[in-house]
Amino acid sequence: MRVFFKTYGCQMNLNDTETMAGILSQHGHEVVNLPEEADIVILNTCVVRQKSQEKYHSALGQFVKLKKSGKIKLIGIAGCGSNLEGEELIKSGADFVIGSRSIGKIAEVLQKAARGEKIVYLEDDICTVDSKTPRMRFSKHHAWITIIHGCNRFCTYCIVPYTRGREKSRPLPDVLLEVEKLAKNGVKEITFLGQNVDAYGKDLKDGTNLASLIEQAGKFEQIKRIWFLTSYPTDITDKLIETVAEDPKAAKSFHIPVQSGSNRILRLMNRRYDRDQFLQLVEKIRSKIPHASISSDIIVGFPTETEYDYMQTMDLVRKARFERLNLAVYSPRQGTVASKYFKDDVPREEKVQRLNKLLELQKQINRELNMQYLGKVVEIIVEGKTKEGLYYGRDIRNKVIIFSSQEVSEGENVLLKIDKITAGPLYGKLQKKCGL
Ligand code: SF4
Repeated sequence: MRVFFKTYGCQMNLNDTETMAGILSQHGHEVVNLPEEADIVILNTCVVRQKSQEKYHSALGQFVKLKKSGKIKLIGIAGCGSNLEGEELIKSGADFVIGSRSIGKIAEVLQKAARGEKIVYLEDDICTVDSKTPRMRFSKHHAWITIIHGCNRFCTYCIVPYTRGREKSRPLPDVLLEVEKLAKNGVKEITFLGQNVDAYGKDLKDGTNLASLIEQAGKFEQIKRIWFLTSYPTDITDKLIETVAEDPKAAKSFHIPVQSGSNRILRLMNRRYDRDQFLQLVEKIRSKIPHASISSDIIVGFPTETEYDYMQTMDLVRKARFERLNLAVYSPRQGTVASKYFKDDVPREEKVQRLNKLLELQKQINRELNMQYLGKVVEIIVEGKTKEGLYYGRDIRNKVIIFSSQEVSEGENVLLKIDKITAGPLYGKLQKKCGL
């Protein structure tokens, strides 16, 4: 049968879609790019915000209509929405629901659904997904590799520990087998993924850790760049910082969500650090890796956030000088501690104002930081084309650079001279092609 995937949310979901697509294609199904071409639609869902949940519900409604008109045969739901809503999604018109730790069983679940069974399958079968599991990679030169599933942190605003379960690391030899396979297939860049990627190995209790994984993965000649996402501040070890500093293949980039600059709000969020510890971490990374790029996430308008709390966040942003900042206004996420116990008491207009001021501050910081690039020659790996037909790629600091050329291809290393900066991407002129 022909299967169309619609993927919502984070890179882990993208990687899960690649895995499900790989398994289904090995079982004789065809993965198609358009819903009109499909017999089966699978929505790989995200529930990190209420809005994300509304989005897939709206899509589900539309696909139910298509099914009634006979244009598609089956609708499946995967991802965090499955774990959160389970049976409810069947009532809303889905034929099967498969949990985020059950994706290894997608072929069996689909087979049963095709026989007319309505199935909710939420077992923890994550250990059945390993280096031998087929994957249909969406990029030729870059691959996502999930190395740890779930999260033990229980931040009060976050639903992930309830939907993706507790931390479970993949054995290091198995991850390396996957890296080896990718290297043989011409992949040059890999990103190790985890909701809390720095916790990798803790549950294995055999000394496995992210730093040694990076070191060992870098030994494969074909692999040229190694990234990791997302970090929890207190789980970043000195050994990891040293490895990133010393290993030429390790991208000089850390994404470390701080979420707030106010100690009081951090406690309410159940984040296990304070602003000084966070700033010390930033300082430590920059002292060992002066050109490190540090990016972060912040939620504004968390319950009870006062003007003073917010000013503390502005102050932290000024001090940390992040290379990139993802901002979100707080909205209660049903099922979390915050939504149950804290009143969402910061008015919407106030939240938006706070977000906009932070956005302005961050833009100013971005412009100042980006100025340092002007006139410099940097090496990037070409990732693809913009809608306007220009090429783009990233340097080892995760800086996006756009350029025009008639003669490069995806995955190629090129040298660019930066001739224009913005608060977002940089623009450059092709100097030299360094090959694939
Ligand atoms: S660290 Fe906190 S925000 Fe991140 S996934 Fe875990 S619980 Fe959610």
